[in-house]
Amino acid sequence: MQTVIHRKTIQNSITLKGIGVHSGKVVTLRLHPAEANTGLIFYLYKGIQKIRIPVSLDHVVDTSNATTIGDGGSNRVQTIEHLLAAVHTLGITDCIFEIDSVEVPIMDGSSLPFWEGIRSAGIRVLNETIEPITITNPIWVVDGDKYLVMLPSDELKVTYSIDFNHPLLRGQSYTTTLDESILGTDILPARTFGFLKDVEALQARGLAMGGSLDNAVVLTDDGYLNDHLRYDNECVRHKILDLVGDLAVMGRPFRGHLIASKAGHALDISLAKCIMSQFTGNELTQYKSKRIPLFSKKEAAK
Ligand SMILES: [Zn+2]
Repeated sequence: MQTVIHRKTIQNSITLKGIGVHSGKVVTLRLHPAEANTGLIFYLYKGIQKIRIPVSLDHVVDTSNATTIGDGGSNRVQTIEHLLAAVHTLGITDCIFEIDSVEVPIMDGSSLPFWEGIRSAGIRVLNETIEPITITNPIWVVDGDKYLVMLPSDELKVTYSIDFNHPLLRGQSYTTTLDESILGTDILPARTFGFLKDVEALQARGLAMGGSLDNAVVLTDDGYLNDHLRYDNECVRHKILDLVGDLAVMGRPFRGHLIASKAGHALDISLAKCIMSQFTGNELTQYKSKRIPLFSKKEAAK
């Protein structure tokens, strides 16, 4: 039986300040309550300009290092996924995000500061309801040896495996249900991670200038640079956080058993596009992209 889900916004505006992980510059992000059916919308302040960028799959313009949305021109907001994971977990469907830089502040590298900020702002239940996404057939996207599957399920669950060429990250796997309390305690506090050798290369190109042990788990060749982790398997938990944040771009609650192996932002967004195309009754292959092959059931069975 389908339970009715109400749309929600925040009770009061809140301001979060932090640094952009790439620019290293201070970013101010303000969250404001919104009317029902507004959706999630960024307003990017650039001098006297105020640029509107809705959170939607049609506005995703890049998934290479983080999930980035754009206005169709040169205006972009990147690294939206950690904020969205918290917003989605708390059931917020309508909210305005004002931002004065092209990247959402990295905060501590997890979704915890967003989760705590929104909870302190309060949550207002709106009169309107929203239909959750449920699927009746498996949906999957494949890219070489990476894949992401959603199986029909009455609850939201995930089975996630990562397999990096690193002694501590070979075959790390985690299975859990993803209700609000589990997400809040077991997933949203998991920090982003990176490899020290990659950080050095990125910084040589002027990227990851804000990256530090204050906002990331950093892996050396055979260990961690951080003194302690929040969980033994913090990295795979963060990948689940990213997946929830990326699927939140669909703008709806969703149910299903997600099975991921070595997935990332590109596959997450591809799956979201497949889900939405099925959910809205369009052809499943509508969003077939060149870079990420999407296989139909028939093709996969060959
Ligand atoms: Zn992340």
